[in-house]
Amino acid sequence: MKPFNAKNVKMKYYSLNKQSPEVSFREAAINGQAPDKGLYFPERIPELDPEILPNITRFSEAEIGFRVLRPYVGGTIPDETLYRIVEQTVNFPFPLVQVTPDIYALELFHGPTLAFKDVGARFMSRCLGYFARENNRKITVLVATSGDTGGAVADGFYNVPGIEVVILYPSGRVSPVQEKQLTTHGGNIRALEVNGNFDDCQQIVKQAFADADLQKSLFLTSANSINVARWLPQQLYYFFAYRQWPDKEVPPVISVPSGNFGNICSGILANASGLPIKHFIAACNANDVVPRFLQTGFYSPANAIPTISNAMDVGNPSNFVRILEIFRNDIDDLKHQLSGYTIDDDTTRETIRSVYRKYNYLLDPHGAVGFKALENYQEQYPERKGIVLETAHPVKFPGEIEAITGKPVEIPASVAGIMNRKKQSTLIEPSFNDVKEYLLGIDSMP
Ligand SMILES: *Cc1c(COP(=O)(O)O)cnc(C)c1O
Repeated sequence: MKPFNAKNVKMKYYSLNKQSPEVSFREAAINGQAPDKGLYFPERIPELDPEILPNITRFSEAEIGFRVLRPYVGGTIPDETLYRIVEQTVNFPFPLVQVTPDIYALELFHGPTLAFKDVGARFMSRCLGYFARENNRKITVLVATSGDTGGAVADGFYNVPGIEVVILYPSGRVSPVQEKQLTTHGGNIRALEVNGNFDDCQQIVKQAFADADLQKSLFLTSANSINVARWLPQQLYYFFAYRQWPDKEVPPVISVPSGNFGNICSGILANASGLPIKHFIAACNANDVVPRFLQTGFYSPANAIPTISNAMDVGNPSNFVRILEIFRNDIDDLKHQLSGYTIDDDTTRETIRSVYRKYNYLLDPHGAVGFKALENYQEQYPERKGIVLETAHPVKFPGEIEAITGKPVEIPASVAGIMNRKKQSTLIEPSFNDVKEYLLGIDSMP
């Protein structure tokens, strides 16, 4: 490791509800959510290390990542350890693939569970593993998943000493590959199959963090994208995108398939700290609360509507408040940097079909929402080239894809093995009390 001249600053995090004390990165990562139920936010957005942009094609991914994240970690993890954690977090490819003359896909699905959430989960699990060792106390990670979070978290935390993981997922609403990825580990990973939707799962998790009994008997934390240790490392692949972008003088528009708005919020944060990005597109399915807000100025959360891009079926996205905070609630500024589009299921299917036929590129339903949103934007701004974040591998949604292309999706070797493993989950009703009882009983389970 070479010497770095960035100063060892102490970054504090405040709660967006403003009723809790400021904490370090360490405490923010361990707490997940602030005691006042607000999301943690860095007290200032650090200016980019001046070495990064001039050296972006020369530096390794790990070096870029270390330099980006170091000020956020604020000295709570020693440099050598942090460097190693970042290195392990981004140890798979992030290729930028040209699909059309004006659209590139940043493939974020080459990690162990084939979705972008691997990046956040790998970083967070290693940070928490480090903090748990320091702490000498078992940490219980509680997480709600709409599909991909659970698998990424299970993979990231499997066998990490000192950590128990409990995953809540909506029964029948995740794909077969997703379900296997979050139910077949065993060991310190437990899956609760909730007879409800993602919002029910998320609601229970929120209640758990507010519950005094649970707080007393367990060291509970969240691995949802509200956790800063998952949210912040997602900035890194925006740098990797720019690193591969052919025309550095004309930065890209980036379209992000969005559900809970953690991913796009990371990109906006990277941009705010100095990474050149022309504009962001929030690409949504029928769950269109943010595009409607951008159009009307009214923010009206709704119940989640099930769609074929299920990881984005979120009716009340948690991270949107962080986006507002980055723009200091200046809605005009926000609209200047962010557009929103809503794409229905039929259009999503049609997009998968036409992109496959015309360009021989197979999109998954989430990437297809992003692709179509970018195309819509480019109708208005035809001279602007852009990137769509391909957030998951198509094999995670084989039913949809095969029906559209008429061909089975080739299963990568890393997934083939998992399909034969046995599902282990506990079926429960969407009741907080049932989940509470379960959590309190974990220590006496085998
Ligand atoms: C989680 C997920 C999304 C949505 O990301 P957010 O950060 O919640 O906006 C999009 N696509 C896929 C494949 C996902 O797993």
